[in-house]
Amino acid sequence: MTETLIRNARTVLTMDDDATEPGGIDILLRDGVIAAMGEGLPATGEVVEARHCVVTPGLVNTHHHLYQTLTRAVPGGQDALLFGWLKTLYPIWARFGPEEIYTSAQVGLAELALSGCSLTSDHLYLYPNGARLDDAIAAAEDIGLRFHATRGSMSIGASNGGLPPDSLVEREEAILTDCIRVIDAFHDPSEGAMIRVGVAPCSPFSVSRDLMREAALLARDKGVMLHTHLAENAEDVAYSLANFGCTPGQYAEDLGWTGPDVWHAHCVKLDPQEIDLFARSRTGVAHCPCSNCRLGSGIAPVAAMLEAGVPVGLGVDGSASNDMGNLIAEARQALLLQRVAQGADAMSARAALRLATRGGAEVLGRHDCGQVAVGMRADLALWDVSSIESAGSWDPAALLLAGPQKVRHLFVEGRQVVRDGQITTLDLPTVVARQNRLARTLSEF
Ligand SMILES: [Zn+2]
Repeated sequence: MTETLIRNARTVLTMDDDATEPGGIDILLRDGVIAAMGEGLPATGEVVEARHCVVTPGLVNTHHHLYQTLTRAVPGGQDALLFGWLKTLYPIWARFGPEEIYTSAQVGLAELALSGCSLTSDHLYLYPNGARLDDAIAAAEDIGLRFHATRGSMSIGASNGGLPPDSLVEREEAILTDCIRVIDAFHDPSEGAMIRVGVAPCSPFSVSRDLMREAALLARDKGVMLHTHLAENAEDVAYSLANFGCTPGQYAEDLGWTGPDVWHAHCVKLDPQEIDLFARSRTGVAHCPCSNCRLGSGIAPVAAMLEAGVPVGLGVDGSASNDMGNLIAEARQALLLQRVAQGADAMSARAALRLATRGGAEVLGRHDCGQVAVGMRADLALWDVSSIESAGSWDPAALLLAGPQKVRHLFVEGRQVVRDGQITTLDLPTVVARQNRLARTLSEF
């Protein structure tokens, strides 16, 4: 039995149904679960002092391409729109292999952990030179984050009218076979699972209609979730209208890509009918505000989605289009972006933080995460509000308005992955040095 007592938390943003915010309480973590909450709990294991900390659920990231941390700020892609940006990066990604996938995932996961993230999904959709989903999963297991890996894919190369080069696409039969392999090898459907696997063709413009349909059938047969990019920008919608004769939302519905076991990244250009469809079918959305700003894609109608009842979480998206992977900063960006579009009362600091925690957990089908409550998994982020970022704040729990951008302590399944602002589970300077070496080699090619 392992126990940790978080003692005397200044404020706990529980994200429970009543949005309660108790102060001055202890939280007991036992065997991966929140075992008790209250004043003056007895300590029988390790004690973490939280007098200066605001405690939140561990943040949940619903969209990422971890491998892209190796191609941040690539000069040719710095100022391009989505399709031009992809065409710049595809040839570089084609030179990746297992070591690049593993190391870039370590860097991306460490960056997320330092920003308070305890659960992340990853969308890996290219497998050059022997790379496998297993490489990213190994990185997550090593650092100790809860991980929803998705087996992405691309099957329509340039010679067939698609966007990616032929060297980065796979045969559809091989894609489906490997989806089955990784689900059987890694997917854990049980409560408290550290690893789950989803099925995730990259986007409607890089796979066939057949593969979209087959992927949905396979995912339902296996009881796993579905994920892809949808309605990211105006070009994306124009492609859908020209090639499929319908909007992205309609295309998704026709192929079985709606429901509580599906979440789509971006959805910047959903129209009111599509929002209604997503709300009725409980189809989730991964909102990626920094990426949408960075690529000039537009402002997703998140306030309207929430109003309609669409499940919405946040995603940092791949580091090549952000280029950071800081989830607490992403939550602040979500708040700012809705206010640009809708006014200062469009989204409160607490509502944006809710998207980053419970909202994301719901999108990923994790009803055991995303709240600080007895019986939930022991995934907690502790934010030190005695530091300069909060100095003078009248409401330190309004973290996104004035608060730290790095977590002080992070617990995942009761295990301390960040202690005093440092990752405990890997030697970060060594990992960063290896990543920079790999980036240099790729750039010299
Ligand atoms: Zn993406």
